[in-house]
Amino acid sequence: MPELPEVETLKQALTPLVLNKRLSELNFLRKNLRFPIPATKIRKGLINQTIAKITRRGKYILLHAPDGALLIHLGMSGRFTQAPSMKPLEKHTHAVFKFDPEVFLHYIDPRRFGCLLWVPSNQEHPLLNGIGPDPLGKEITADEMKLLAKNCKKISIKNFLMDSKRIAGVGNIYACETLFAAKISPKKPARRINFSQWTLLLSMLRNILQKSITAGGTTLRDFYSTDGKQGYYKFSLAVYGKENDPCTVCTQPIKRIIQSARSTFYCKSCQKY
Ligand SMILES: [Zn+2]
Repeated sequence: MPELPEVETLKQALTPLVLNKRLSELNFLRKNLRFPIPATKIRKGLINQTIAKITRRGKYILLHAPDGALLIHLGMSGRFTQAPSMKPLEKHTHAVFKFDPEVFLHYIDPRRFGCLLWVPSNQEHPLLNGIGPDPLGKEITADEMKLLAKNCKKISIKNFLMDSKRIAGVGNIYACETLFAAKISPKKPARRINFSQWTLLLSMLRNILQKSITAGGTTLRDFYSTDGKQGYYKFSLAVYGKENDPCTVCTQPIKRIIQSARSTFYCKSCQKY
């Protein structure tokens, strides 16, 4: 599943291709993805318009035109690829964009959990409501996180990090790796994380996300190999998926537990409760 670094990488890859470019053609090859595609509204808002800005909110990307924005989410398996023409090259191509002069972008999504929606100017889309602050932005501080966590009765720090209403877009891999780097047990209640632990945790989280963005590269062609596999997580993982492997710090076996139906990988001796 595309995670925040991959979405940020996509945003960076799209920027030189679409920013300040006019969209001249747009075809949808099906009526719905996760939600129905409002094709008429999107075409009316985008065709012959120039993309003035590209922004990201959590794992959503917005392409802003004068009257509104195209809201994009990659779901489980969505991706964009550059192609030589409007002609779909793959079975799961669902939308084809042409930006002047000759940039063709194809949206491909085999599992169709992604979305392409329209947000009129000056409106907030319900999907974006309540998304927490961005871990890559400057707006998250240890003070605020400590305050936010104080009111959470039972939630573990792992589940706290993965709740997009508290912090935007931190997926399972990044939550596990961050907690290992910060030497904090994933089971520790969020409300018991102190100020210096929050400071360390946020700095590790930014560091790990940034490493992954750097590893992902910034062009669409490099980002995806020819078999369509996404080229992220190229940076080395310390605990995620490493059950029973020796911890890179203390050599104790990495444990796997289940929290909120998701696997958590951690080192019981390095990560303190
Ligand atoms: Zn260890």
